[in-house]
Amino acid sequence: MDDRERALQVHAVLAEIYPDTRSPLWFENGFQLLTAVILSAQTTDAQVNRIAPRLFAAYPDAETLAAADLLDLERILRPVGFFRSKARNIRATAAALLERFGGEVPRGIEDLTTLPGVGRKTANVVVSQLFGVPGIAVDTHVMRVTQRLGLTESKDPVAIEHEMRALIPDDQLSGFSMRINFHGRNCCTARRPACDDCPVRRFCPYPENTHDR
Ligand code: SF4
Repeated sequence: MDDRERALQVHAVLAEIYPDTRSPLWFENGFQLLTAVILSAQTTDAQVNRIAPRLFAAYPDAETLAAADLLDLERILRPVGFFRSKARNIRATAAALLERFGGEVPRGIEDLTTLPGVGRKTANVVVSQLFGVPGIAVDTHVMRVTQRLGLTESKDPVAIEHEMRALIPDDQLSGFSMRINFHGRNCCTARRPACDDCPVRRFCPYPENTHDR
């Protein structure tokens, strides 16, 4: 079985387990999703979801967030960690959205990555979740799981993104991205992958389970 076939088999199994590939982040529109994804760096989605209602009640759109008082914003963001830099980032992003995109989230990865605090990972989440554009967000989970599955040898997220784009058909890419992420959080964890209980173990060459196959 070649890598492409293996990747598709893995995806098929994970699709049964994770039929819903909507982001666990709470959002009702593009501005909220973009802001929430920026805030989710180095913290959990649950933590961002806890402050989201208060944040978006105070700042419902790019215009209000761009005009936010930094100290007020920091007070709301304090629980998510790195709150000072995140406050500056999301306010600057809102200002750039307003200035260059009429307050709307742009549809293209290249446009999105011109915004402050927005890298390819964030841009891929946003385009796939908001616009149905094929995207793969190579975060720590996706990087680890694709490496263990032997689908990449790279340690560079951008290189892995391009490798997965070459391997996975467009219409499956966003689903693959979310499901590999969920699998990494729930089963193929960083410290202790649960290989004995892993639903895709038969497709995985990870050394830990080669001895008894
Ligand atoms: S078999 Fe182990 S290493 Fe491979 S995907 Fe499953 S949990 Fe991860």
